[in-house]
Amino acid sequence: MKINKNYSLLEENYLFTEIARRTKEFIDKNPDKPLIKLGIGDVTLPLSSTVADAMIGAFEELKHKETFRGYGPELGYDFAKKAVAEYYKGYGVALNTDEITIGDGIGSDIANITDLFEKGANRVLVQDPVYPLYKATSLMDGQEIIYLPCTEENNFVPSPPPDCEADMIYLCSPNNPTGATFTYDQLKEWVDYANRCNAVILYDNAYERFIEEADKPHSIFCIPEARTCAIEFGSLSKTAGFTCVRCGFTIVPHDLKSDGISLNRMWQQRQTTKYNGAPYPQQRGVAAALSPKGIADADKNIAEYKRNSTLIINTLKDKNIFYSGGTNSPYIWFKCPNGMGSWEFFDFLLNELYIVGTPGVGFGKYGENFFRLSTFNTYEATREAMKRISEKL
Ligand code: PLP
Repeated sequence: MKINKNYSLLEENYLFTEIARRTKEFIDKNPDKPLIKLGIGDVTLPLSSTVADAMIGAFEELKHKETFRGYGPELGYDFAKKAVAEYYKGYGVALNTDEITIGDGIGSDIANITDLFEKGANRVLVQDPVYPLYKATSLMDGQEIIYLPCTEENNFVPSPPPDCEADMIYLCSPNNPTGATFTYDQLKEWVDYANRCNAVILYDNAYERFIEEADKPHSIFCIPEARTCAIEFGSLSKTAGFTCVRCGFTIVPHDLKSDGISLNRMWQQRQTTKYNGAPYPQQRGVAAALSPKGIADADKNIAEYKRNSTLIINTLKDKNIFYSGGTNSPYIWFKCPNGMGSWEFFDFLLNELYIVGTPGVGFGKYGENFFRLSTFNTYEATREAMKRISEKL
């Protein structure tokens, strides 16, 4: 056999393993200390009854001979794709249902879409700091990676390079980890760049529902020219608490072509060959989550996370600490106080204030001296954590 040696290029999942190790060591030594976890990127509020009842209803159907179903369509049920198309209409984006596929969450779709691109032959642009998946899959495929620094100077919203340096571009807005969010104009610059350079934008839209500012687009397809250069990934994980349900969608427009070859067709070929379709009950959950009632329920949960955002932002403002995110995102990214390094600040928060967060350097070298706090916790726990920061920092 000849194995893919590129796997040896992958870093171990150092960040979260190391956070877990240091946290465990602390708990073992200090079992009575009231630890608050603001490091996690996982939701804490339950599924709405709208979603849960739709999935229970689907399982109920599967219990009876008359309504039982076997394999479903590999690309997703029409009812789920229609629900996605209808949701996008709300943002002024018209999609054909055959431009949408339903999958088991966008983690896999973002990884699997790389099958469409020649291995070892593409230059891939990723932001630094970056959500680790884009970098890891590019390394596995032997692609050349170009890092685009996201810094205080560019407010973590970088502009495209002056020359055509990239064939594939990963963008995530609202961003994990920085919380920074493109305006229409900033995103249009990237769309124009990609069209000019014949590059593809792989647009991770996982945090779209957290956007509250009117100048921030909810989809890259709010910019019509994106239809010839972009693929969008839509997750329900953070929108509607689907991290365990595992169901999301991917949009590949018909107008996206390379040398006359349709990427939509290639993605359909890929999925119908290598995937047997997302589970029926989960797809009923997607349709329910994207219905007006489901969205109203999701917004209620998001509003709870945003109360935590306000607590964190106000504390950082009081302390004159530079931060980004929180407004359109569940994450707040800020500069470690007193010139501390990311891990140094992690240890300080853990050992002195009993708070767990995420060191920015774990997302890339430009994350050094920065830190990420998440709003996925209760109001009471976040308030207590901010009280400790206010008093002791
Ligand atoms: N993209 C980003 C930026 C994320 O933060 C996450 C999850 O944390 C994902 C993708 C994965 O989403 P899903 O749960 O739909 O696989």
